[in-house]
Amino acid sequence: MSGPAFDLFIIGAGSGGVRAARMAAQRGARVAVAEDAALGGTCVNVGCIPKKLYSFAAHYAESFEEAHGFGWSVGASSFDWETLKANRRVEIGRLNAVYGQLLTTAGAALMRGRARVVAANEVEVAGVRHRAERIVVATGGWPMPADVPGGERAISSNEIFDLARFPARLAVVGGGYIASEFASIFNGLGARVTQLYRGEQILRGFDRDIRRHVAAEMIKKGVDIRVGAKVRALEADADGATRIVLGDGSTVVADAVLYATGRAPNTGGLGLEAVGVKLDVNGAVLVDDRYCTNVPSIYAVGDVIDRVQLTPVALAEAMALVDDLFGGAERHVDYLHIPTAVFTHPNIGTIGLSEEDARPLRADPRLPFGVQAAPSHALGKQRADDDEARRRRRQRPGRRPPHGRRRRGRDDPGLRGGAEGGRDQGDLRRHPRDSPDSRRGVRDDARTGDGIILTRYRLP
Ligand SMILES: Cc1cc2nc3c(=O)[nH]c(=O)nc-3n(C[C@H](O)[C@H](O)[C@H](O)COP(=O)(O)OP(=O)(O)OC[C@H]3O[C@@H](n4cnc5c(N)ncnc54)[C@H](O)[C@@H]3O)c2cc1C
Repeated sequence: MSGPAFDLFIIGAGSGGVRAARMAAQRGARVAVAEDAALGGTCVNVGCIPKKLYSFAAHYAESFEEAHGFGWSVGASSFDWETLKANRRVEIGRLNAVYGQLLTTAGAALMRGRARVVAANEVEVAGVRHRAERIVVATGGWPMPADVPGGERAISSNEIFDLARFPARLAVVGGGYIASEFASIFNGLGARVTQLYRGEQILRGFDRDIRRHVAAEMIKKGVDIRVGAKVRALEADADGATRIVLGDGSTVVADAVLYATGRAPNTGGLGLEAVGVKLDVNGAVLVDDRYCTNVPSIYAVGDVIDRVQLTPVALAEAMALVDDLFGGAERHVDYLHIPTAVFTHPNIGTIGLSEEDARPLRADPRLPFGVQAAPSHALGKQRADDDEARRRRRQRPGRRPPHGRRRRGRDDPGLRGGAEGGRDQGDLRRHPRDSPDSRRGVRDDARTGDGIILTRYRLP
């Protein structure tokens, strides 16, 4: 009997899958990739990229407003949803083609169709079975559905980019970064946005000061953020709108209801359990520190293992796996020091541990915890006045500024960080390893556009 046709069979041509395929093929491995949707996965098609394009679009509203203060006379402006959607489609189509080219140039075989694992060394795509030495599951995640009566009236982040009509009233359910970004974006584009979150403050997991500051700024810009708001049901209202009934009996009426309450690992119908692969209770593939499942020929990387659901993390895991399997630099994914940008308005950039997480790990008072939130672009219109005043007070002569204090221009959305976990998140750049900052060992600084800079801490 002939041996396997492929050294590596990758299921999913998203961030992790494409990176693993390219790297392995470049090292001479016989690689196949199966994909049943558009190339590039979540990030390219319904995640980071289109979201950032829409975030840029939303920023123009503020720029027009501020332009007066810089001496510009701006005529009447208006926003056209159809133009934005059409141009997004063109750009994403271009990226889909680039991804296809990357795979074929590297020499990987691309198979179109839904893949299923049928044995420890066998994958079926479109009714054809393929044998492979090893299989990598890189199938990503999927938005969790609205689990309330009438939940079918809600949309997810998969649909929001292409809504047939721009929602004059948008309700966003959720308090994470995706929910908060969409609340900011649609508010900037001109929708009346209500963000409903059942917890006590949006952006759980970020530093307390930053959460408070960003929420306050979003409210100033017009987002109606309601915390402690539990959705009880979604009901039909007049003219196709939806009435959201909250736990306290109050209601919110919206033209579209976006549920962004989390993403579940995409393992349904993959056949993993049938071949003995262990999954977590939420469906995540359980892997060891070399991304191997309990079945020695089957591996998994990216959102499907549910560690940190970010593109650079999926890329880093893919690279670590391929280096391990086919040789290369020894890589280690550092899950503690991951550069992250949040495209709320204002933006946030973070690297490493939050103050809350760092405190119990680092009791040394000489290693300061610092958080900075500074407006940097406020001439025509003074934004975030409170912070500006606080900044000036802190900069009194003789008073040493807190460690890591930075102000940056809004047009520099790059984020520099020392994380091994990822190279870029959209436009994040790896922090030069030999820079003075990284030699200090206790501090990284992050910068994003629109003036929110957060300094976080890492273990020595
Ligand atoms: C709205 C939104 C905004 C985001 N913004 C950011 C951001 O700014 N920065 C950031 O770092 N991350 C962001 N993310 C997260 C990021 O998109 C994911 O972490 C990343 O795409 C994960 O990559 P992956 O390779 O694990 O999975 P994916 O990119 O999701 O790729 C999985 C691929 O597998 C395919 N697939 C699934 N099952 C099968 C099957 N059985 N057969 C064949 N193909 C299959 C899917 O079609 C998909 O193409 C965002 C996500 C969302 C939803």
